[in-house]
Amino acid sequence: MYIRYEVADKIATITLNRPEAANAQNAELLDELDAAWRAAAEDDDVAVIVLRGEGKHFSAGHDLRGTGGPEKITLEYIIHYESRRYLEYTLRWRNTPKPSIAAVQGRCIAGGLLLCWPCDLIIAADDALFSDPVVAMGIGGVEYHGHTWELGPRKAKEILFTGRAVTAEEAEKLGMVNKVVPRAELDTATRELAADIAKMPAFGLRQAKRAVNQTLDVQGFYAAIQSVFDTHQTGHGNALSVSGFPILVDLEQMKSKISSDR
Ligand code: ZN
Repeated sequence: MYIRYEVADKIATITLNRPEAANAQNAELLDELDAAWRAAAEDDDVAVIVLRGEGKHFSAGHDLRGTGGPEKITLEYIIHYESRRYLEYTLRWRNTPKPSIAAVQGRCIAGGLLLCWPCDLIIAADDALFSDPVVAMGIGGVEYHGHTWELGPRKAKEILFTGRAVTAEEAEKLGMVNKVVPRAELDTATRELAADIAKMPAFGLRQAKRAVNQTLDVQGFYAAIQSVFDTHQTGHGNALSVSGFPILVDLEQMKSKISSDR
């Protein structure tokens, strides 16, 4: 079990529970996570959903060490795997008709963004660092292109081009997170906000969320997410054609880049 799920006081708390791997996302973790979101969506006793990560880091991203796939990785296999777990799941979480809050601490790398961006609100611990270093793998960013919507076009480009991490403070300034709290207060602050929201009428909350999401969709959010997913797949296709592997990467070089970010 990679996910812990608890309901108390109208709040469903979903915990990424793979701290020994910095909550890196393998297929099982993502499938369990999606099941937890569905359970929360369907439970009438749940008014607000909280997503948090156990341990030092929120999520180190996708687990690149095998996804139980075929011996010879094809683009067809990658698109099959990723459209389910990195697009369908993510959009379903984003559209769940109840408010959700992500509590993010430590590293939130690449695929980690696919877990917190779909949440309606994000509270960051002061040690949180958000990054998408996927350009270093020869791909134009992670599968779910929240970047431009979350950061604005110029910052989105800067962050993609350099692969640098955005601090909690900068993320708040850019409007990507709602507030920053000391690391020790992250869980309490998240629970307090969730408890406040849970007092509001469920239908009002549902319609308020729909109002904002629908506005983004009318502006092209949904269509852009779909089309950039396909752009992402051309990156995998190119990497496969060049190296036979879905990403072009020197993993050691990437690790040293990530640790030099501090
Ligand atoms: Zn991918």
